[in-house]
Amino acid sequence: MHILTTSIEYLKGVGPVRADLLKKELKIFTFRDLLFHFPFRYIDKSKIYLIADLTPEMPNIQLFGKIIKIEEKGHKKSKRLIASFQDKSGIVELVWFKGLRWIKSSIKLNSKYLVFGKPSFFKGTYNIVHPEIDLKEDNDNFFATGFQAVYPSTELLNSRGLSSRAISKLIKTLLPLLQDCFDETLSTDIISKSNLPSRKEAFFNIHIPKNTKSLIRAQKRLKFEELFFFQLHLLKTKVNRQEKIKGYSFHILGDNFNNFYQNFLPFDLTNAQKRVLREIRNDLKSSKQMNRLLQGDVGSGKTLVALLSMLIAVDNKYQACIMAPTEILSQQHFQYFSDFLNSLDINIALLTGSTKAKYRKTIHEQLEDGSIDLLIGTHALLEDSVKFHNLGLVIIDEQHRFGVAQRARLWKKNNRPPHVLVMTATPIPRTLSMTLYGDLDISVIDELPPGRKLVKTTWKSDSSRLKIINFIKQQIKSGRQIYIVFPLIDESEKLEYKNLVEGINSIEREFPLPEYQVSILHGQMKAEDKEYEMKRFVEGVTNIMVSTTVIEVGVNVPNASVMIIESAERFGLSQLHQLRGRVGRGAEQSYCILMSGNKLSNEAKARLSTMVETNDGFKIAEEDLKLRGPGDMMGTQQSGMLNFKLVDLVRDNNILIFARREAENLLKYDQNLEKAENINIAKTYFPYAKERLGWSRIS
Ligand code: ADP
Ligand code: MG
Repeated sequence: MHILTTSIEYLKGVGPVRADLLKKELKIFTFRDLLFHFPFRYIDKSKIYLIADLTPEMPNIQLFGKIIKIEEKGHKKSKRLIASFQDKSGIVELVWFKGLRWIKSSIKLNSKYLVFGKPSFFKGTYNIVHPEIDLKEDNDNFFATGFQAVYPSTELLNSRGLSSRAISKLIKTLLPLLQDCFDETLSTDIISKSNLPSRKEAFFNIHIPKNTKSLIRAQKRLKFEELFFFQLHLLKTKVNRQEKIKGYSFHILGDNFNNFYQNFLPFDLTNAQKRVLREIRNDLKSSKQMNRLLQGDVGSGKTLVALLSMLIAVDNKYQACIMAPTEILSQQHFQYFSDFLNSLDINIALLTGSTKAKYRKTIHEQLEDGSIDLLIGTHALLEDSVKFHNLGLVIIDEQHRFGVAQRARLWKKNNRPPHVLVMTATPIPRTLSMTLYGDLDISVIDELPPGRKLVKTTWKSDSSRLKIINFIKQQIKSGRQIYIVFPLIDESEKLEYKNLVEGINSIEREFPLPEYQVSILHGQMKAEDKEYEMKRFVEGVTNIMVSTTVIEVGVNVPNASVMIIESAERFGLSQLHQLRGRVGRGAEQSYCILMSGNKLSNEAKARLSTMVETNDGFKIAEEDLKLRGPGDMMGTQQSGMLNFKLVDLVRDNNILIFARREAENLLKYDQNLEKAENINIAKTYFPYAKERLGWSRIS
């Protein structure tokens, strides 16, 4: 038996009782588990640092200087106390959110303080939140209580004598026993190129740091390792898939594509659309199966790219389908495609949950005999009864709305898997997309069609209602249309339903017939009623669309210029951004008005101010990631993939990008990890990949 797999019970100082506790509370069963039980923070009281030398990776450290200014900022919940703390090299901010009054009255301006805490870098300066501060006349007599690792523990463990300090002691017993267990996992090339410490040095230093510098190096090494093997696995999965699956080769750019492109395209494609189309085209003719993610902010024109890609499939005598998450969106795509393609000889069909049984049967037959070229629809496409003659291309719109299993089912509609393009308008921070979609190729439309004006966003409370109503009336007078959206997240929630009904009543009072026409749309309506209401709005018969978030994704009514979001604090950032994306699609100046109550959490405030500050979907996504963390942001379904031991995807994006690059470089010249110099990597990678076998994923 390998020493690493020895039961924790046998470590000196543990024994059966403590072993039981460690297993139950921390899932530490073996020596290895303890080795991988990393500290979650560090205390460096070995020296006094200079402000000029701070870096964001530093642990809790000490500074010595004086407080030169102190002030309160914000109000109510966002109220905080900010002290400017200066040493001979610079200034940092000390910040308190709690106990303001007491702290403020006890601080002596311009006296010497020893400050202890974790520096972080925010908006151009360093600050320390809730530092410990001690009045000190000089800095001679308080050095060197040393460098301490702080371990995650639990209340029960604490009460049974297994505090962080005790765990630290166990680790100090363990490490010397493992002297010979730290086989190198990386190649000398990678290690020397990036000046990483050896594995052994890294493990020793992450538990018992010699100093801040060696701690940071140790963290970098172990984080790199975690990300490197993960990326290597994603990339290898991709290569394997490409080798195993033979894709259809669409080498013809035929009549439909050319005819449409040259004669019927109503506007010039943006450069980004052209570039992305080229990327897709190259995939389609490569004889390898395409697996591509198309990211583009709301309104960037993804649908047209989808349409053109589908024409390539048709030109090569294959069928294509596009799946969208809602009826409304499917209908709209169907309309859009039908309008664009009416001068071509292409047979398009729409299949959704509300397609009538008789018509459904016809569709099924025509799909099987190949007379339908393009199929558009909702989840209904996934049903087993939907069979194709020869499905060559599958497009999934708003892919984040679908589960992995659902997407996988489309693959199986053919013996040979079709090409797959998944599209999303929810921008994903680069670090996340590299992790979640690291096995896909990624295309980005990073440009909006010309002539779009930025949507003006404001954040208002009830007291402005009268003004807003007048503003709406004036917009309607000049021919524009208005969205008013209510939160109805869980449609069974009675309270929210009541809000919606009350909202509708008051809107109908303010905007009476016959002068104003109002459409209403919510999840509890019948599909055909929804369709009817939507159609009236699209055609400009109604002036106002009152709805729940069912219109959130995809819907396109260029004449709509105002988006009012009620109880905006209840929405997530990406949802708000999606909703705002429903306006600003035409040539008119558009507006987004966020209505909220006055009592908001700090996070809700941060969300709403972010919306006011920026229109850039990628910036919003980064902010969302910071506010919510990766797990929450991507939903539980995908968050399992984001569980790292040491890595924090928000903070460690540099290491991630570096690891990705190294993994790519490696596979370029040693795809099967056969070269002698990569033996360490191979020895680590293959068992790692085996462990993750069940995990492999189809997007
Ligand atoms: P999204 O990327 O959010 O799905 P859409 O595909 O719905 O965006 O496109 C938004 C609007 O922009 C549509 O009305 C579409 O016809 C229009 N559009 C797309 N490409 C262009 C272009 N190159 N020039 C002008 N308008 C365009
Ligand atoms: Mg879209």
